[in-house]
Amino acid sequence: MTKISEIGEFGLIHEIKQIVDKNYQNYPYLQCGIGDDCAVIDGGNGVSQVITTDLLVEQIHFDLLTTPVSHLGYKSVSVNVSDIYAMNAVPKYATVSIGVSESISVEMIKEFYQGVFRASRGFSVPIVGGDTSASIAGFLISITVVGEQKSELVSYRNGTKEGDVLCVTGDLGRAYAGLKILMRERLQMLEDIKENNQNYHPVFEDYKTVIQKHLLPKARKDIIEEFAKYGIKPTSMIDISDGLASEIKHLCRNSNVGVLIHEIKIPVINDTKLIADLFADDTTTYALFGGEDYELLFTVGKDMISKIELMEDITIIGEIKSKEFGVKMLSLEHEYVDLLQRSGFDHFKSGTSNQKNNLDNED
Ligand SMILES: [Mg+2]
Repeated sequence: MTKISEIGEFGLIHEIKQIVDKNYQNYPYLQCGIGDDCAVIDGGNGVSQVITTDLLVEQIHFDLLTTPVSHLGYKSVSVNVSDIYAMNAVPKYATVSIGVSESISVEMIKEFYQGVFRASRGFSVPIVGGDTSASIAGFLISITVVGEQKSELVSYRNGTKEGDVLCVTGDLGRAYAGLKILMRERLQMLEDIKENNQNYHPVFEDYKTVIQKHLLPKARKDIIEEFAKYGIKPTSMIDISDGLASEIKHLCRNSNVGVLIHEIKIPVINDTKLIADLFADDTTTYALFGGEDYELLFTVGKDMISKIELMEDITIIGEIKSKEFGVKMLSLEHEYVDLLQRSGFDHFKSGTSNQKNNLDNED
């Protein structure tokens, strides 16, 4: 018997793909199956339907001690619509299913759905159904979102080529900085519960910007709307759920290209730097491997640079190279770091990174 940890999440998805996608050719309306942020289905009249699904599991993806359930509701929807935006599509409707253990009260479930509803309203994606079940494995959340876009405007992971520029929205590493603080406070809370200490109150106020990014990541609806406004179609796109390095690898592998990114250009805010300093960590490591920022990473042709510059909150961090060039970062010390060899730039110890092991549409 092979342990799943031996092949990893992406290895497991590869094994599943081998079994289920054998007869894709029998379904000509399938434009894209397993292996992108969403599956893409020909909806007729030049329009594509995109579909994504995500499973969130208590103690794997979230901890109820440090996560308000209403935030969890919001985040569950947000991370799903983020995959729809990563295809340059617009979310249309969603289903939400939950498994609940005995420790979850009706009040908590109602609060969870208040968060779900807030996101549903914010992203204009009505919740049209779902399922509920008892669970013996804690709180489970499964969400499916369907979106839509003109077929010619759907962005895949495999469309970029040499000469394109690589862009990222927002700033990176902030969600991981927030997780570091939450994990530290969680340990303290567990100590206090053990010692029956009622006096301790976690100090979250000072770290609001980073904690909020972790608990309430906001999928980039605004960016997709701006693309439409300026007539930009990214040649490839992916959302940043697992960290910049991992997503860059996906784009390069799927598009059969290499890339050079510049460490100096990776957008990181000061609050993230302060937290990294606090833990004596490296800020770039947070950005490269931290994950859960739910920003968009995309490429455009050089002719689009002037339009990109009209948009706010976008940074050009590198350029697409030939496959032979490899996947590299020019460091602050002017050294080329191979991003495919994670050990070359890895200040994380095993297990301290994202505990996530999600099986979604991504490979
Ligand atoms: Mg994704």
